[in-house]
Formats: sequence, structure tokens, C-alpha cells
Amino acid sequence: MWLFDVLIEHASLQLDRPFSYSYDGPIHHRRGFRVLVTFNHQTLVGYVLDAHEAAALPTGTGLKIIPIISIIDQEPLLNDELMDLALKLAEENLWPRISVLQAMLPQSLKPKKTALKGPKIAYDDFLKVLSTDETDLTLKQIEWLRLIAGEPVFAKRDCRSPSILKQLIAKRRIAVYQKERIRLAMPDLELKAAPPLTSDQKRVVAETMESTDAVYLLQGVTGSGKTEVYLALSELALSQGKTVLMIVPEIALTPMMVAYFLSRFAGHVAILHSELTPAEKYDEYRRIARGEAKVVVGARSAVFAPLENIGLIVLDEEHVETYKQDTLPFYHARDVAIRRGSYHHAKVVLGSATPSLESRARAFKGVYHHLHLPQRINALELPKAEVVDMLDPANVDRESSLFSKRLRNAMAAALDRQEQIVLLINRRGYAPTLTCRSCQHVFKCPTCQIALTYHQKDHMLKCHHCGYLERYPSTCPDCGAASFMKQGFGTERIVEETQRLFPKARLLKLDSDSSKVRQTIAKTLERFAKHEADILIGTQMVAKGHDFPKVTLVGLVLADIGLTLPSYRSAERTFQLITQAVGRSGRGHVPGRAIIQTYAPNHYAVVLGAQQDYERFFKVEMQHRKLANYPPYCYILSLLVTGKNEDLVVQVAATLGHHLDDKLGEEVEIIGPSAPYIGFLGGVHRRIILVKYKRFETIAPTLATLIELMGPKTMTRLAVNIDPYDI
Ligand code: ADP
Ligand code: ZN
Repeated sequence: MWLFDVLIEHASLQLDRPFSYSYDGPIHHRRGFRVLVTFNHQTLVGYVLDAHEAAALPTGTGLKIIPIISIIDQEPLLNDELMDLALKLAEENLWPRISVLQAMLPQSLKPKKTALKGPKIAYDDFLKVLSTDETDLTLKQIEWLRLIAGEPVFAKRDCRSPSILKQLIAKRRIAVYQKERIRLAMPDLELKAAPPLTSDQKRVVAETMESTDAVYLLQGVTGSGKTEVYLALSELALSQGKTVLMIVPEIALTPMMVAYFLSRFAGHVAILHSELTPAEKYDEYRRIARGEAKVVVGARSAVFAPLENIGLIVLDEEHVETYKQDTLPFYHARDVAIRRGSYHHAKVVLGSATPSLESRARAFKGVYHHLHLPQRINALELPKAEVVDMLDPANVDRESSLFSKRLRNAMAAALDRQEQIVLLINRRGYAPTLTCRSCQHVFKCPTCQIALTYHQKDHMLKCHHCGYLERYPSTCPDCGAASFMKQGFGTERIVEETQRLFPKARLLKLDSDSSKVRQTIAKTLERFAKHEADILIGTQMVAKGHDFPKVTLVGLVLADIGLTLPSYRSAERTFQLITQAVGRSGRGHVPGRAIIQTYAPNHYAVVLGAQQDYERFFKVEMQHRKLANYPPYCYILSLLVTGKNEDLVVQVAATLGHHLDDKLGEEVEIIGPSAPYIGFLGGVHRRIILVKYKRFETIAPTLATLIELMGPKTMTRLAVNIDPYDI
């Protein structure tokens, strides 16, 4: 007879303890496998943390121990390193243990009931449109029907909303047909053979190999050849019989990086990406665990890849915020990389042209080994960037309210020379606000209370926070008038305006609207790389590390959008976005130019971004952070209390706030509880408490006691987020 300590699949802190179940039969492993159990009259998946032998069920304790239903896995899912890492991360960050295990494992191995019915298919389901009749359809259904009808082929798994599909099928608007599975088409790009390293590249490779330091910050200006450094370091690690973990912001956005790793290390590479079916992901995962893949390339969650004997972990574009997961568990790939690096005695290389302030500060203090690539390859010059003040009437173009004369002329000239252009506007949709012309009523999201964005493609209003949809109004709900103003602009409007001004130019758009269909990102980038279009228009996605040698002009249509957001990181984000965008220009033989349109021409993030002067920005921004006591001068954590009952949420948040004040008020700064920027989301009320502290050890014991103050019921939930990005 065995007694199992089982974590159940519900990721709530109140349920984050092992429950005992019995099992009568042989077992091969003591931990790390999934079981099916009954919990509160539900059948759930559990994860066995430990097994104890028992002669008989314990009696007299009043506890009733019931048997598990069945064992799911024959082998442990995680090796000891990852299992211990999961438990440690959960304990230190106050995350439910099961949530970390769920985040670590690929879909079909997750300790979750939904993982068990994952389709293991060798063909793909595609959708065809039977009728575009929109009567009786909900707005969500119409949105998807229009999207599907607008694509030549549409794979069912590309639809992120299976429930809507079901409804559309039931209403006979679409049907499913089957076709051979699409493999992830590796972009058909011309790859250069490994060039001899430049002396700068050689220097940083040698410095890394000779040093015994653990973590390296590779700060190299845009176009300085960081990729070749990663490849060279990877080769060296492999030649020592070690393995390599290469983390990138998003596979679809970095087809070149993937292609280089595949071609240099053919046969040894596993790519973890979202195009894989659950079955393929499972296969790749097992291949890595069996030691058949020596190099793993993947996005955030690949940092948990079950590689053994790791020699090198690279985190490219280490500053990007997608490395931090914004749902439970709120892990940061950088932290996990460094922990795994220390376990394996591996070198961890963080690369960026615009390092996060935290990382640069650590390099400054010598916590990270600082490496520099100060120059572009072939001594190419950094692009010349010009700031255009859009408030100055002299700059305004009478033909266009969106483009300055300077940008429009530069575009015309680049098109004449058959060079390519990238235009960045960090906002999707057509216009961010719709206003009634007679009473100035602004259309807002009923839950989030923020303005709805007008989307031209499906002629609807959308909330960019919660996804709420509304038909384009026929009359104003306040005054009944029927005429509206579309204010401001997003990608759709820029596309329209650009086409109007340059009717012959071939345009491509890249934003997260277009990438609702997953294959689109890679396809768009590939087409632009092959010069099948002249102008690429998009959100920050167009600024991400791409190497398009024919781009000689980058236009930031409005560079300061991010500055108005209420966050202490807004200057840093704006600086990074400008520098990275400017860095896409002039990467070939022709020197590049960038034009930055802004309403804040004197803001230091804009000025220094235009000058691409990272070091100066670092100094100035550090002073701001010091004065206001923000990271990296302190740490911040947020405690988010959520629940359906608003009174209860307020009450629990107040209790936690008082308790923190009592215990820690002397040592740390406590802000709140208050209603966050979005106080009500998806039917759930939210209250937030921020804690600014210097040393985690001073607050950890108090944090650990908070959960007891929330009451035994699961009416409210607590989510602890260390270093949250959205404040
Ligand atoms: P970064 O990531 O630092 O912005 P990349 O890695 O994209 O820069 O490199 C910029 C360009 O320089 C690429 O086209 C790359 O192929 C080229 N390159 C890199 N190293 C060398 C080298 N040693 N010799 C010649 N070209 C190189
Ligand atoms: Zn909303």
C-alpha cells in the first residue's frame, strides 16, 4: 500500500498543499508523475510529489483517505533539477506549486485535465466558409467569420477561440475539412556561410571563454553581429560535449536566428515553437529529455527545456518584456536562465543593444560580466536619426495630417531609389477613439472604462484590454446624433494614408491583429526580406532584431505614445523602442536614416533614443529612478486580490494591507490597497497593494503568512508578482 502526496490541478494558493491518496500496486518512481483523482466530487489530474509506504491506512485521525483512480504516466515528467527548481521557485515567489509545474511542461504533459484529451493527429483540420450571412450571429462570431473568410487557407488550430468555431459550425457558416498537416515552413531565406569573426567579436568570445564568471551582459549596438557571437559560443560549448539553450523573444519574429542555428547545427537542434501540434511538441520534448537534441531554440517557456549538461544559455534581446510571464506563475526567463546556469555551471549570456536598466546596473556593479560590441559590422555607421516636432506648424504637411513633410519626402526618395522603408506606429486598429460629433460622447468599454479602438477591417469597436466588441454605432447613445469622429491613428490608418500618398508602393502590415493567424508573421517577414514589398508598417513587432539590408529609412510615426502610460518604465520602454527601431535602418551598404515624429521632442527618452546613446540614457534614467525610489534602487512586488464579490475583495485587501503595515511598515513602503488601472476584468474585481523593499529576506516571512488571513474559502484569490511590468 502506498500513500501519495498529491498536488491537484487547481492553481490557487489556498489549495497549494499536497493531499493524501492511497494506491495499491507496484510503482516504479516515487515522484513526478500524474494521477487521476477524485477531489470534491470532481475528477481531476494530480501530480505526485512523494510516495510513502504504509502497512495500512492511518486510522483514528478522522481523515478519510481515498484511493487514486489511476496512474497516468509511467515515467517521471521532470528530472530532479527541474522538479527542485519548480518547488524552489514556487516557495520563494509564493506561487501555487502546480502552476509552476504546468508552466514548465508542454501541453500534452501538463498536470491538467485538458491535457489528457489533446489531439494526437497526423493531419490538420482546415476551415471553409459555407456562408457569410451575418444574421443571428454574435459580434465575436462575426469577427471570426470575417477573419476566416479573408484568408485563402485557414487551419483550425490557428483559431484561438475554439468555442466560437463550434458555434459557427453549428450555425452552418463554416465547415471543417481535413488535409495533410502543414509543417512549420522554415522561411526560405538566403543564409550566409559562417564569416570569419571580426576582431571585436573574437575579443568578446575569447573574454567569455577565458572568464570563470557566470553571467555576461553582451551589450552590442544594433547590427554589431551578436548572432555570430552566439553561434561561435554555441560551437565551443558543443565541442566541449555540452548542450546549448538559446532563448529568443518569439520564434515567429526571429526566423533568421532559427535558420542560422538549424543550418549550423543541423540534426542536433530542437525548435520549440507554437506551430507544433501537441503531439509534435511532446515528441520534441522527449527528444530533448533523451539527450538527442544538443541545442534547443525557443521562446520564454523553452527556458525549462529538459536539457542536461548545459554549457551555455543565451537570452537574446534580454530587455524584452515578453520574457516575463504576465499570468501565474509570473516568472522571468532571465531569472530562470541564471538559476539553471548556476546549477549546470553554464555560462549565461544576456544580449541586447538596449539592456534593461536592471541588467545594465548589475553589469555596472560587476554582478554581471560586461561585454561590449561598440561598432556595427564592417564599420557601418549607425543611422542618422532626426526628430520632427509635430506641434510645430512648419513641419506639418498640408497633404497629410499624419506625416511630416520631412518623412514624406524621405519616403518618396527611398522609394525612388528602390530601397525599403519600415514605418512604426505602436498602436493597432484604425483610430484609438471614436467620439460623437455633436455631444463629444466617447465610446468606452463598459467593463474597463477605457476608450474603444475603431477597427476598419471588421468595422467594429474593440477594447484592447479585455477584447470586448461592439458594432460600429448608428446613433450616439447619449444624444442620438449619427455622426462620429475617428480620432488618432493606428496601423490600419497609416496603411490607408501611405497607400493614398504612394499609390504604387507595395505595403505589408505586421501587428498582432494580422498575427491572429499564426503563420502570418513569418510569411510577412519573409516576403519583406525578399523585397516583395516596399514598406513594412507595424507595431513594435517591426522593431524586433530584424536584419533587412535594403531598409534605408525608418519612420516612427508617433514616437511618444508610450510616454503617456502610467508606468515608471515608460521612459525606458520609449527609449528602447526608438533605439531598436532606428537600428533597423542602414544595415546594408547604403547608410540609413530614421525620422522620429513626436509631440515630445525634448523628452530625454526621445532625444537620447534618436542619438542611440544608451550609456547617457542609462545615467539619466538611473537618477530619475533614484529620486523616485524605483527599481533598480529597490524591488517592487504587487499583491493582487481578486474575486467576484467586490465587498469581499475590498475587505480582504484591507486586511492584508493592515497586516503588512503592522509587520513591515517601518522597513518598507506600502502603497494601497487601491483599484488598479483596470479595476474590473472578466467579471472579477481587483485590488492591488504594492510593496517597495530592499531585501526580500525582510519581507518573506510576513508574505508567507498572508494566505492564512484570506479565510479558508476560495472566494478570493491572491496573486503575488515580484517586479510586475504593468505598474
Ligand atoms: P545584431 O543582432 O547585433 O543587431 P546581427 O547579428 O543581425 O546584428 O548582424 C548584423 C549583420 O552583420 C548580419 O547581416 C550578419 O550576417 C552580419 N555579420 C555578423 N558578423 C559578421 C562578420 N564577422 N563578418 C561579416 N558579416 C557579419
Ligand atoms: Zn474592456
